Amino acid sequence: MQFVSTRGRAAPVGLSAALSAGLAPDGGLYMPVRWPSFEPAMFADAAGLPPIAQRLLAPLFVGDALEPALPRICAQALDIDAPLRALPLPATWMLELFHGPTAAFKDFAARFLAACLLRIKPAGEMRELQILVATSGDTGAAVGAAFAGQPGVRVWIVYPDGRVSPRQAHQLGAFGGNVTALRVQGNFDDCQALVKRALNDDALAGRLRLSSANSISLGRLLPQMSYYAQASLGHWRAHGRTLGFIVPTGNLGNALAALLARRMGLPVGAIVLASNANATLSEYFAGEDYTPRPGIATLANAMDVGAPSNFERLRALYASDAEVRAALSAERVDDAQIRAAIGSSHARYGAVVCPHTACALVALERRRAAGDDRDYAVVATAHPAKFDTVLAPLIDVVPEPPPALAALLQQPSHSEPLANDYAAFSTRLIAG
Ligand SMILES: *Cc1c(COP(=O)(O)O)cnc(C)c1O
Repeated sequence: MQFVSTRGRAAPVGLSAALSAGLAPDGGLYMPVRWPSFEPAMFADAAGLPPIAQRLLAPLFVGDALEPALPRICAQALDIDAPLRALPLPATWMLELFHGPTAAFKDFAARFLAACLLRIKPAGEMRELQILVATSGDTGAAVGAAFAGQPGVRVWIVYPDGRVSPRQAHQLGAFGGNVTALRVQGNFDDCQALVKRALNDDALAGRLRLSSANSISLGRLLPQMSYYAQASLGHWRAHGRTLGFIVPTGNLGNALAALLARRMGLPVGAIVLASNANATLSEYFAGEDYTPRPGIATLANAMDVGAPSNFERLRALYASDAEVRAALSAERVDDAQIRAAIGSSHARYGAVVCPHTACALVALERRRAAGDDRDYAVVATAHPAKFDTVLAPLIDVVPEPPPALAALLQQPSHSEPLANDYAAFSTRLIAG
């Protein structure tokens, strides 16, 4: 399979090249030239996430050097539970994506990308692989965990100082060794801009072998389709109906994966984007022009994004804005509504959710109030214990961190301050 840029001004490349590059040379994002097409029956003998992912992704790996490794990559990287649990509400489930090592859904994608990148060895390349990752909280930890201690790789986590939860900050600095955490005086969009600029900096590319692990990376998008495939196939077999998903959304990577699973023929129903107070997507879906803007800080900090980096991929899938708006819908949820949802879901049906998942619960309530009684899964993107300081004033018992997260929180943590300045960033990277 060949991969082309959303901007159409870069030569098509194979999978390994698209995974390694992050951004296409014309500044666009890589997409396969065509999406494979499946029917639910084609997964009849695939049980569990790795076999489903293997079948789903096989057409995209055809002809690439990574093709023979796909079964191993799926088995190693996607060995994480993704249970679909019924909630005590009509026609409503919760898809729990927080059972990986850093207790957020980004573990699936980060581990898959790492398993791919660690197997790609350009001929004659002796330099260490440098992974740059801008994070609003959870990506950096997932990528750090996926690469920590791996020989031949260096990871640079770039995050906005003071804008991640205390436990997220601790995690980011807790890997040490080949993983360096840089805390920037700025917001997430500033961090993302620093990383994007470094990846487009030819002078820097001459010195360092750079790659990215951001949500623009194709290697993160692809594996995320597999849990939507697994959940929707299970639901289809059990009930004979499609399953809709309400997805807490920031950079649009996770929700786009749900959309792509549907496009590939999986029994996915309606897809609802649940944003926090950042209004870029909700305004666009309400009919206004797409207007990226600086992100604002909210309780659902991993979604504090004003310029969703995967929007370009979403737009490239359709001929017009009207078609995009017909394919998805979006809801915006402010901090007061997040707090209220955390309290009421606990009181009403005993669910303890993180602030991101709370946005999806609010979006669900709005769908139900509008008379939508179709089957939906609320996507739970992080374990609530990661956000203990948000939850503590709202509910009486904050859950304990799961064991992997607890172990990381026991480690000492160190991060370096960095000015919001590209020269300072590139100097730090070169210093090594
Ligand atoms: C990253 C993240 C999101 C947003 O996902 P996108 O793919 O950027 O839309 C939502 N919830 C949590 C907990 C996250 O870490």
